[in-house]
Amino acid sequence: MMDLQTLQAQCSVCRRCPLCETRTHVVFGQGVPDAEVLFVGEGPGQSEDEQGLPFVGRSGQLLDKYLFAIDLDRGRNCYIANIVKCRPPQNRDPLPAESEACMPWLRDQFRLLRPKIVVCLGRVAAQRLIRADFSVTKEPGLFIDKGGVLFMGTFHPAALLRNPAQKPDAFADFTALRDKIGEVCTHTY
Ligand code: SF4
Repeated sequence: MMDLQTLQAQCSVCRRCPLCETRTHVVFGQGVPDAEVLFVGEGPGQSEDEQGLPFVGRSGQLLDKYLFAIDLDRGRNCYIANIVKCRPPQNRDPLPAESEACMPWLRDQFRLLRPKIVVCLGRVAAQRLIRADFSVTKEPGLFIDKGGVLFMGTFHPAALLRNPAQKPDAFADFTALRDKIGEVCTHTY
């Protein structure tokens, strides 16, 4: 069976959708291959496109703080990916056709990682992976079982930077996540 490195090498030259024309780097994902917790955002921004890594700009620094608070670290015990691997111009939402074209990469990551918990960061990821009408503000801290994998939706860190009043709600989601990891994961903590 293919490993994540081989999959990443294939993805790094992907031209399945027009976002390949404007990207600097494909942002495949980052984390440990035996991660039980997978975070999924919507797509790379400018810093991510420049560095080829997910969540490395200001919102990534905020995400890392939330991760640290519940003893997660992308170098040690989780994995971070996005719905689309190439930056949409001007950071617009990915178009449905772009998400559709890119989903097979995420599905393959999913097959290789076999996460127990998937955390959708923001509306785009949550509506794509949980339910088309999912609301991260109306359904906080909720875990939805889909085929034995628990999905939750929470705020995108960029949204928290725009609207800091939502930070306590986001923190409550991460606390709920920590408790759920303690319940269902075997080697994350
Ligand atoms: S966004 Fe996804 S499908 Fe489109 S070119 Fe990049 S890797 Fe390929």
